[in-house]
Amino acid sequence: MPRWHNRHPEARDIPINPLYARAGENRIPRLELAKQGVLPDTAYQIVHDELALDGNARLNLATFVGTWMEPQARQLYLEAADKNMIDKDEYPQTAAIEDRCIRILANLWHAPDAQRALGVSTTGSSEACMLGGLVLKRRWQKRQRAAGKPADRPNIVFSSAVQVVWEKFANYFEVEPRYVEVTPERPRLTPEGVLEAVDENTIGVVPVLGVTYTGAYEPVVEIATALDDLENRTGLDIPVHVDGASGGFVAPFLNPELVWDFRIPRVYSINTSGHKYGLVYPGLGWALWRDQEIVPQELIFDVSYLGGNMPTFALNFSRPGAQVLLQYYNFLRLGYEGYEKVQRTCQQVARFLSSNIEAMGPFELLSDGSDLPVFAWRIKSGHKEPWDLHDLSHVMRERGWQVPAYPLPPRLEDTTIMRVVVRNSFSMDLARLFLDDLKRAVSHLQSLDGRLARVEESQTAFHH
Ligand SMILES: *Cc1c(COP(=O)(O)O)cnc(C)c1O
Repeated sequence: MPRWHNRHPEARDIPINPLYARAGENRIPRLELAKQGVLPDTAYQIVHDELALDGNARLNLATFVGTWMEPQARQLYLEAADKNMIDKDEYPQTAAIEDRCIRILANLWHAPDAQRALGVSTTGSSEACMLGGLVLKRRWQKRQRAAGKPADRPNIVFSSAVQVVWEKFANYFEVEPRYVEVTPERPRLTPEGVLEAVDENTIGVVPVLGVTYTGAYEPVVEIATALDDLENRTGLDIPVHVDGASGGFVAPFLNPELVWDFRIPRVYSINTSGHKYGLVYPGLGWALWRDQEIVPQELIFDVSYLGGNMPTFALNFSRPGAQVLLQYYNFLRLGYEGYEKVQRTCQQVARFLSSNIEAMGPFELLSDGSDLPVFAWRIKSGHKEPWDLHDLSHVMRERGWQVPAYPLPPRLEDTTIMRVVVRNSFSMDLARLFLDDLKRAVSHLQSLDGRLARVEESQTAFHH
């Protein structure tokens, strides 16, 4: 287990006077409050300057999270920065807009009756997954108790390539995580793997629409059909929660014929991140249940709303409301066709890049951007390069590009991959510049290798 530690022990105080021409404060303690404050301009300048060392968000190809919105959305963001989502009584229109967004998502995901769906906005998919998992656990416990069976050893099933939030859910809510191991031959959750893992203590199965490592979709309908079959044979009724953190906002536009959502009766709930392909700045997720009946009543709390009460289901109490308004802005601004166009363009850029990277020679693709606009590659197996993807990542960083290199999940961890997430605003033009830089970085590493080899040779000669 990782220990809690401070990664950057800092000096207790340092002189801070960013603009020398101003009469400035000379020493400001960094780890405790100063006795007196500074002028607003000085405080602004200090924080602003430090942030110059952060990476440029637009060149961050590691994140799924939105880094660009239109100026009108930014204006709305500033205007709404003071809204607390929980104050339904004080901000009834923000509450009404939140509900409208939920109906829009329920329709987009084919809820049998969008008015009967239950939905909540959250701080991100993580909170939404916790709520989805909690409903599964509570339903299972109630069922077990009603049947006079033990309710103390719940388990939940997903693949070993699952996002870390599910590990957290299992840990925090005391549910045994059952990982169906991914292998090179079976890189995602399969119906067979699910059937081997489930039993009567399984609270649910979680396929992921858009595995974080590669962007590939797990086969929701095949898994649900296998579980239908299991129910017919044994009477075991195991629900499915789809983690659509990214795919929930991509599949409906790029693969409308792909059946993964509430069209499948076994899919009880879905989460997505408004701040990923929902195209909103960080801080927004959504969780939806196909019918309000699914959520046990005792999990719902009331807050006051226009003199009455409004049911809420969330881990947070206070939370920014602005992101919800930004989501609604996007729904209005883009419509179905607008979202389709954005995601399609992201996919074109992803496929352009992946095919060119494959053609470079040393690399092979693990995915090409045909599910999520995300692709990953590794150095060809059997191909010996004296540099690795971590070196490549460092060289790319010198130009500002942030492209992560990391190991695959357990059992496959010997393989290091590099991944690019194409998001709105990563234009074809930027993509070409990225590709040029990537080619230059590879030939730089290869020329270094030539030089290193010569140094080694001369040292060997010297020692002999
Ligand atoms: C990003 C992601 C999450 C976590 O979502 P946040 O919005 O970052 O909290 C969960 N599952 C998957 C598949 C993801 O890609």
